[in-house]
Amino acid sequence: MTDRKAELAESLARVEGRIGAACAAAGRAREEVTLIVVTKTYPASDVRLLADLGVRHVAENRDQDAAPKAAACADLPLTWHFVGQLQTNKVRSVAGYAHIVQSVDRPKLVTALSAAARGAGRELGCLVQIALDAEAGERGSRGGAAPEQLAELADLVAAAPGLRIDGLMTVAPLAGQFAGREQAAFEQLVELSSRLRADHPGATMVSAGMSADLELAVAAGATHVRVGTAVLGARPRLG
Ligand SMILES: *Cc1c(COP(=O)(O)O)cnc(C)c1O
Repeated sequence: MTDRKAELAESLARVEGRIGAACAAAGRAREEVTLIVVTKTYPASDVRLLADLGVRHVAENRDQDAAPKAAACADLPLTWHFVGQLQTNKVRSVAGYAHIVQSVDRPKLVTALSAAARGAGRELGCLVQIALDAEAGERGSRGGAAPEQLAELADLVAAAPGLRIDGLMTVAPLAGQFAGREQAAFEQLVELSSRLRADHPGATMVSAGMSADLELAVAAGATHVRVGTAVLGARPRLG
């Protein structure tokens, strides 16, 4: 094994241990939680090593970096998640490689994704990104729709050709009533998820929790955790 592969194997095992312990503590089966490794700022060679080590879900947040990486790794059995704020002029590119877009937060993006998915002859899974600190009608500072917009956006996705509504995603807010209360924030997301599933039974994904707070997300009921730093190491400031 190369040094880098051994390093990644070790950090993956550590994260796996954390997820396993969090599931056990919450009385959940390990299979209820999927690890998505956020590979942003790291090279395609790391994605390849991760796939070798058994990782099946990776996430990226900038199309400029993700598109060439996904192309370089097209032979690997990976599901690609897009988790960043998405401009409509990038949608055509993203629809070429992403399987799931986790950052759907406005009607215009739904329209653009639908057209791009159809153009590419692909079906895209969509998660509505919720900003728990956004006021009704506004978006969060890191993207995301206000909770009041969830039903409308989910209905739009479900009705859009080429798109599928798979669930919702959040990033723990830094401001507002949930600032510093990650577990309460994730519990609120799970509550929104049960309302969403009443109308869209297939929308079962709850994507929440990162390196620092994955245990809280698992305790709250997340089905997908997005872990970057704890697997790949600290990123340069930009990422
Ligand atoms: C970078 C990123 C993550 C991973 O964050 P870490 O703290 O490195 O685990 C998760 N979700 C989103 C949306 C991100 O942009």
